[in-house]
Amino acid sequence: MLKSGCDSESGDRIADRFLHNARKTKFLINQGGTSMILTLICWVALIAFIGLSVKKFMAYGSMPQHGRQDLYPIPLESDEKMHYGGSYMEEDKWYEKERHHNLKGEIVDMQAVMDEDIKAGLLPAGSVIEPWDWAYYAERVRKAKYALDEEQTKPYFQMENVRQGVFDLTTKLFGLQYEKLSDIPIYHAEVEGFKVMDADGSLIGVILTDYFPRETKRGGAWMNNFVNQEVVDGVDIRPVIVNVGNFAKPVDGKPSLLTLDQVETLFHEYGHALHGLLSQCVYPTVSCTAGYSEYNEIFSQINERRAFEPSLLAEYAISDSGEILNADLISRMKAADNHCSGILTTKLSISALVDLKWNLLESTDGVDPEEFERKVCEEIGIPKELVPRHRLAHFKHVFAGGYTAGYYTYLWAEVLDRHLYSVFEKKGDVWDKELSMKFRKTFLEKGASEDPMKLFKSFTGDDKPDIEPFFKSRGLEILK
Ligand SMILES: [Zn+2]
Repeated sequence: MLKSGCDSESGDRIADRFLHNARKTKFLINQGGTSMILTLICWVALIAFIGLSVKKFMAYGSMPQHGRQDLYPIPLESDEKMHYGGSYMEEDKWYEKERHHNLKGEIVDMQAVMDEDIKAGLLPAGSVIEPWDWAYYAERVRKAKYALDEEQTKPYFQMENVRQGVFDLTTKLFGLQYEKLSDIPIYHAEVEGFKVMDADGSLIGVILTDYFPRETKRGGAWMNNFVNQEVVDGVDIRPVIVNVGNFAKPVDGKPSLLTLDQVETLFHEYGHALHGLLSQCVYPTVSCTAGYSEYNEIFSQINERRAFEPSLLAEYAISDSGEILNADLISRMKAADNHCSGILTTKLSISALVDLKWNLLESTDGVDPEEFERKVCEEIGIPKELVPRHRLAHFKHVFAGGYTAGYYTYLWAEVLDRHLYSVFEKKGDVWDKELSMKFRKTFLEKGASEDPMKLFKSFTGDDKPDIEPFFKSRGLEILK
């Protein structure tokens, strides 16, 4: 087996370099050094920044493998096997269309960078890209190809401006109006509250924003309902929703500046918040975001797309000196967005399929998990340079956290959201008022009170979701 340049790196050196890079990039909140939370982002950052040793990569992929077969997930009972879209995905076999040439090209690009390292004497002659190399070399290719440095875009994304941007988005689409509330009870001084009103002045609800990290707050970003929308004795109780993030605090009079990922996250979570705010149901058990997870993700992902629409960027992506984010940076941002799309899509697809297929097993007696994974990869024709994004041995989604047999929902929601967004694009105006109101009435007001696929069909006029917009937006070409 040929090994990458990081193979000989000791665990300590890896940890040192990780800490150095993490501090430099402000990934870690805990400055005390006694403990640290490795979020998924940090983990990915670790792999991308320093590469991962072969040994560690193998260990990560086979955590409970040696003699602890009992730690493998157990298949579900048949009546809980799949969420809504799982059977659809399996039946339609849309993933088989995913054999696109992007994947090969991306591996060739990475090999070219690795060849430079070989020439420079950093790697033994004949080294080739292996599964543990891709994140490291993908990052090297991204830097070389797009020359997009986050420090260039950050000055345009001040936290307050980004929040105003997402408020403006709802005004453009639905005519919503916001009024800052100064006299409401809040649970922390950094939380801000806004009254949200419809275009005709009627009350929609209250939105709270809670954007900074603190001791007692967990990491990540999310939306939550403090008060669910419902109708009680004929009275429409309007919701109270919170939009949460963990962004860098303003320091020494300097504003909080967001990375592109964080802008996307804030808009994503606000998509869920909007789903909660605009609810028009009777019962709280089906109102707001009570529906299927893949269905709920559609609206937050559509909100993400809108964050980077040039017409909206022109309103909120403005630096301290009043400069608007220029077209060159926007196009580089868009190009970089699809970097390694073939590899990432393939890795996600394999994990989704392994999860679904594993949960279709009647029993795991005598099933070798490694062999099982290998067979799934073989069936789809995955190149040897890739492995699933998650290995069965550490793949919590397969059995816990409410995501059981539901890993496919990330991709599936994207298929649905791209199809829905393409309806706006075909109309020629992604802010079209009439279509936006139809979208609001069809989806955002309904919660889980109606069958989502029925609503999908009534909005699009199509019989079933179309995979093409998904491929197009990921910059993938399908081999016919
Ligand atoms: Zn979400």
